[in-house]
Amino acid sequence: MGLDIGATKILGVVASADGEVLASLRVASPTGGDQVVAVAAEVVEKLRASAGAEGGVIGVGIPGLVDVVHGTVRHAVNLGVADGYPFSDRLAAATGARVVLDNDANAAALGAAAALGVDDLGYLSLGTGLAAALVLDGRLRRGSRNAAGEIGHIPVDPGGPRCECGQVGCLETVASGSAVAALWPGDGRPAAQALFDAAAAGSAEAVAVRDRFAARVADAVRLVALTVDPAVVVLGGGVAQVGERLRGAVAHALAEQAAASPFLRSLDLPGRLRLAPLDVPVAALGAALLGRASS
Ligand SMILES: [Zn+2]
Repeated sequence: MGLDIGATKILGVVASADGEVLASLRVASPTGGDQVVAVAAEVVEKLRASAGAEGGVIGVGIPGLVDVVHGTVRHAVNLGVADGYPFSDRLAAATGARVVLDNDANAAALGAAAALGVDDLGYLSLGTGLAAALVLDGRLRRGSRNAAGEIGHIPVDPGGPRCECGQVGCLETVASGSAVAALWPGDGRPAAQALFDAAAAGSAEAVAVRDRFAARVADAVRLVALTVDPAVVVLGGGVAQVGERLRGAVAHALAEQAAASPFLRSLDLPGRLRLAPLDVPVAALGAALLGRASS
């Protein structure tokens, strides 16, 4: 059983041993550590009842800096979970299951690796913020401080806005769902969807904004590719819900960036760009696989 706990929703799945999703349940996220644990425990109970699953081990993906050993999380700002809150212990007590906690992007990377059938990838989570997760030679690279892949907080523009992290001009201020929303205030739909639709409909302004955004995402792809050189880089997260149009725009930007560089061209970054499958809940599936791997 796997849970993808996000700022807006909690998605739980029951997966088979070979990574097929057998049942799923989605509910709105509350705010506060105890509240999130209570709602997550309800999801577990309902999945147990509907799928006849035991859920003896529950994998959980959650945003923030996760201490995998102690099952705690820091900087889970949007969920209102206090730093150091004993998340795993509380959820284990509420469900009677063993709980394996990890960062949501790490879970999504594992799920994407299973769904795409690759074992060496960089997963770009384009959500409210921007983070990369790394599955290298089949293993998650979490880093010594669980901060591997936090490329959203690499400053790229000294004249940019102050980031929530305290630095100025971080990459996620120009390459994330929030960045799109700031550039293209939506019409009730997700901003990226509205932007790409307007661009497809021929708005010159939307095309310009889309291409500028795609170029900054391409910067993130290049950063991951040149740092750890994974076989593929996967675009995921909420922004990737616009689908193939996003992959196409970013691949185009990568090709433009390589136009004057035989070095970059030789790396074929456009050809190594993938989209996370839209019909698979990769974060929840990856969380389930985390639980399985540790059992
Ligand atoms: Zn930052």
